[in-house]
Amino acid sequence: MELTTLSRKRSLLSGYEKEPPLYTKKCLASLKTLLDRYETDRATEHVKLKTSWGRPCTPEACVNGRSQLLTDTESFFQQVSSWADTQYSVKKVLEHLKFRQASNDILLNESINKKFLEFRRDITEECGAEDKQHSWAVIEKQEEVVMYGPYYPNYNNGEHSEDILIKQTQELLESETVSEECKVYVFTMNSPCLARNTDPCMLNLVQKAKEWWSVYGVKTHIGFVKSWGFKGAKENLFRDINYSQVDCIDQAEDHENYVKAAEKADLNPLCENLFSNVKYLQRSARFSLINNVQGSDWKSYFKSMHSIFESKPEEEKKICTQEANTVIEAAQVLLSEKSGSFEEYLDKGGAFAFDYTFNSQVSDVIQDQMRLTFQQCWKEMVQDKYAKIIREKLTEDFNQCAVHVFIKDIVKFTKEYLEIGRMQFSEEAPQVVR
Ligand SMILES: [Zn+2]
Repeated sequence: MELTTLSRKRSLLSGYEKEPPLYTKKCLASLKTLLDRYETDRATEHVKLKTSWGRPCTPEACVNGRSQLLTDTESFFQQVSSWADTQYSVKKVLEHLKFRQASNDILLNESINKKFLEFRRDITEECGAEDKQHSWAVIEKQEEVVMYGPYYPNYNNGEHSEDILIKQTQELLESETVSEECKVYVFTMNSPCLARNTDPCMLNLVQKAKEWWSVYGVKTHIGFVKSWGFKGAKENLFRDINYSQVDCIDQAEDHENYVKAAEKADLNPLCENLFSNVKYLQRSARFSLINNVQGSDWKSYFKSMHSIFESKPEEEKKICTQEANTVIEAAQVLLSEKSGSFEEYLDKGGAFAFDYTFNSQVSDVIQDQMRLTFQQCWKEMVQDKYAKIIREKLTEDFNQCAVHVFIKDIVKFTKEYLEIGRMQFSEEAPQVVR
């Protein structure tokens, strides 16, 4: 996809003459990522910190604050790298998901949210509204605002929109005069990814924010619209949860009994955390079939209706085929109703087949068979869709929880200079108290 780059400056304070204090240009040439530096330069930490952290560092503060500073830095990198181990972090998220906290959503604070909304309005005015993944950023200085983007992912070479954004921000921070009052605002439609083949964007951004704070003294705010979490790489995490699994979980009182039943039924038993999560979702599951079954997908569920009269004489077969098509089409009315529970949907299909008035040219025997077969097909379709909806809801909750747990984990170390949260739009309900 072609890149559109919007780069512009908006004057905030015209006639602002004073040069902002120049920051740490001398550090840039030897700048490495903080992680590298931390690992390789432990022995000469004091000297390095003094020159490359870029913030005034009195010998006194260094002596007193040194061990604390390093412990924090160490813990920060440990925390970040623990998230690079997806097996570990997926387990952690699942464990957290089990507790089902009331709000798994971390929202931006009100004033920052307002800023993002304003910037977004400007970008939308200039470049048009966009629903698919894209990113843009803003460097806000005292005297002007530099907006750049939107950037789009290039899936052909595995490049995410945040990759381009990070590169661009880095270049701008290096070339512009930035002061401590500067702020970086990073917008991304979907929250930065937590897993991909190379370093995930969330980890890259968090480390960059630390670096930008250390070197330039600027704070970073990251706002997103949808929680993306592990999507992509971990999308198949719940693929084994089919209807047989869902039913087996539904029937079992606890995990121990479930494992026994699953083994008996030749199913791969799910771990206790997944078991609890599916069980939780079942209790409240109401769903709508209208957007879940369409066109050819719908017809394919009722294929076996046609095999009833497969061997009948040509003329009768023709009438029956027509009738079967009419029934299948008429049953679509069942989809248009608003959401229902699994049982409600099963009952609806049963009642429909029972009440349906067939063309009198179709023999009674075939009519009965059609009713039965319809019920069976309907049941399989509802079971299939029910399991799919459980899987989707689980994936959605899981990814939202992943973003939540990650932010909670990281914010302990970064609250001084980094805020990450979901953007809230005015049409949404009032902000949930965190
Ligand atoms: Zn990414």
